[in-house]
Amino acid sequence: MPSIISHSKPTIDEKEFTSMDRYLQRGELTMGAAVEAFENAFSKRHEGRHAVAVNSGSSALHLSLLALDIGPGDEVILPSYVCAALLNVAWYIRARPRIVDIDLDDFSLSLQALTRAVGRRTRAIVVPHMFGKPAKLAEIRAIAKERRLTLIEDCAQAVGATYGNRLVGTFGVLSFFSFYSTKVITTGHGGMVLTSSKALARRLMDLRSYDKKPSTRLRFNYSMTDFQAVMGTVQLKKLASFIRRRRAIARRYTQAFAPLNVEVPIEDPHRPSIYYRYILTLPRDNGPFLKAMNEQGICCTKGVYRPLHRYLGLSSRRFPNTEDAMRLGVSLPIYPTLTDAECRRVIDAAKALL
Ligand SMILES: *Cc1c(COP(=O)(O)O)cnc(C)c1O
Repeated sequence: MPSIISHSKPTIDEKEFTSMDRYLQRGELTMGAAVEAFENAFSKRHEGRHAVAVNSGSSALHLSLLALDIGPGDEVILPSYVCAALLNVAWYIRARPRIVDIDLDDFSLSLQALTRAVGRRTRAIVVPHMFGKPAKLAEIRAIAKERRLTLIEDCAQAVGATYGNRLVGTFGVLSFFSFYSTKVITTGHGGMVLTSSKALARRLMDLRSYDKKPSTRLRFNYSMTDFQAVMGTVQLKKLASFIRRRRAIARRYTQAFAPLNVEVPIEDPHRPSIYYRYILTLPRDNGPFLKAMNEQGICCTKGVYRPLHRYLGLSSRRFPNTEDAMRLGVSLPIYPTLTDAECRRVIDAAKALL
């Protein structure tokens, strides 16, 4: 039995170990100088936007919505084909999630569905850059502006991706990132908010921890630790090389699969993907493909575990593209340490099934 090829894997080496070791040895285990250094490095990379580190992407979105004063009864627009974290966070603040369908060129919000979904109580749009490909930012930003909605970029899968040569995370009023262990750069668990507003950044920092405050207003315990932050700083330095390797693997996959009876990811030079995930769209139900690949020790999954409209019991007829993506899409192994030989094994195994 050949070895198992995992679906995703963090890239960590001596550089992370030694930098973290210092903090562990000194017993500096909570939020301190290393968190501030990570925030500064992240900010510097993103046009000097204010950066606030937290303990997860979910916490980052939670604090963002609170900082914007979005609360009970307010509507927040979310695409259906996305991580369940977004739905959870809407519930944290008792906001009403307004779920819309996606476009199949980027697996993010459909402009048509988005326009139709905006109502009187709508306050914000959360736009994920799915699988590392930037969403239609210019169009979505124009809709947000016209309808006076706050645009929140979900960059959990797209750190380092660019839209028209500008980094994602620099378009929204607020944007957030996740450094969960499967993401492009990781701190185990972790997250970050970016904002151009100093006032919002102050509110985020205030909400992030409860200690030594003048009042007992609601606050959270969402800090990142110093040893996570120092790992994040090292990971951020490696980001460009991570993206280069992800793109090289994606090119191999596309070369191999493009001539076959299957759809490969659509490339757009204006908003190139960093290939957090590589999604093939099959001409038929993905069940047998996924089963056969996993039986050979090549871990493949659907792009999203379960779409939000199904969690909410909404009629699938209103989400035809999300349903197609769930039924036909398969996510292949892709990460910087995936070797050329492993890549070959994935291609050969997949080809035999197509
Ligand atoms: C991972 C992810 C999140 C949630 O981040 P956590 O750190 O797991 O809380 C949110 N949105 C998207 C698109 C994600 O991929």
